[in-house]
Amino acid sequence: MSNDTLFAEALTHFPGGVSSPVRAFRAVGGTPKFFRKASGAWFEDEDGQRFLDLCMSWGPLILGHAQPDILAAVNEAMHEGLTFGAPSRRELALARKIKAMVPFIEKMRFVSSGTEAVMSALRAARGFTGRDRILKFDGCYHGHSDGLLVKAGSGLVTFGAPTSAGVPKGIAELTSVVSLDDLETLERTFAELGSELAAAIIEPIPANNGLLLQRPEFLQRLRELCTKHGVILIFDEVISGFRVAPGGAAERLGITPDLATYGKIIGGGMPVGLYGGRKDIMGVVAPDGPVYQAGTLSGNPVAMAAGLATMERLTPAFYAGLEANAAKWAAAFETLPGLHCPRYGSLLWPLFQDGVRRSDAVKGEAISSFNRLHRALLGQDVYLPPSGYEVAFLSGAHGDAELDHFKQAVAAVAKAFA
Ligand code: PMP
Repeated sequence: MSNDTLFAEALTHFPGGVSSPVRAFRAVGGTPKFFRKASGAWFEDEDGQRFLDLCMSWGPLILGHAQPDILAAVNEAMHEGLTFGAPSRRELALARKIKAMVPFIEKMRFVSSGTEAVMSALRAARGFTGRDRILKFDGCYHGHSDGLLVKAGSGLVTFGAPTSAGVPKGIAELTSVVSLDDLETLERTFAELGSELAAAIIEPIPANNGLLLQRPEFLQRLRELCTKHGVILIFDEVISGFRVAPGGAAERLGITPDLATYGKIIGGGMPVGLYGGRKDIMGVVAPDGPVYQAGTLSGNPVAMAAGLATMERLTPAFYAGLEANAAKWAAAFETLPGLHCPRYGSLLWPLFQDGVRRSDAVKGEAISSFNRLHRALLGQDVYLPPSGYEVAFLSGAHGDAELDHFKQAVAAVAKAFA
């Protein structure tokens, strides 16, 4: 069946025809590609057309689609049972590996998604501090739990307002929201509310509203303010973790959070999330402490196997190669007239605008030009994330042949952007 036939049916089953909103292609126009199968940096859709993938399932596939070592590990694990709902040795192997790569993780808990990891880390922080209020930053995304679908409210002291229907006002009000790159408001918020805050959560490399790279002093000051006011600093490394360095953004920035959340890469393409950090804070989690958190499929053996097979291949040499390669892809993007491509590690943000550090600075024209680029490159068999606010992800499978294909595609569409 063709993409379009499948999508017509999908619309009868799912809101927007999809299982997660951005996939619906509403932002860029057209109809979504139905993935039939994928390998390395390429996928084939249900029309039988091959595309070079620069979205890569939004981050987990740092080694590429259907990487043979991961498939072998999954195959071995699955023949020993799909789920136990009981402890099994593969959780320990993955935990050991994570501790070796991220030294500040003293204790951790596996969950099944990034949303769950963040929700649970916040509950632990609240349980540990006995405080209810949290702080987040405009332009960062932390999953779809109630307290995080929140924007700045209108008052002087910012009590948040829901960004989604269905989020109770009373819950949103417990979240204060500060703009990225706004040191003054950050200082003021801590001065007024510091003693009420359980946690401050940030994507240290904000990559969900484009790539809003922060000045190091902003993150450093946030660390200092949290320490001064007894606020738990949570780095949400669901995207940056194990992508930008073995120890994620915390290692590259030289800033140690109290807790961190992970997802995507640690599951190697299977549903896994993780929260962890200081053992005194993690000590409040059940059954050791009074903060309840649980999961039927948490620590799932097949998912652990996929995660471990991935992590075992993430050597310093792998990161160095990926980084050097990513610089070439960013340069190739920038041959498009007017396009700038901020990059951090293997995260790239192609945008027709320069120097953006806050979400409110992104211009509407820059996004409409991206939408045009998305359609133009699809016509050249290149699949960008279907929204100008999303970053592109590279993998170890994006080699020289892929880069050549990409350069030719860019050259073919460049005229339309001159
Ligand atoms: N935090 C960050 C930084 C993310 O990028 C995401 C997902 N893109 C999440 C949390 C939520 O993760 P999930 O989609 O696995 O629930």
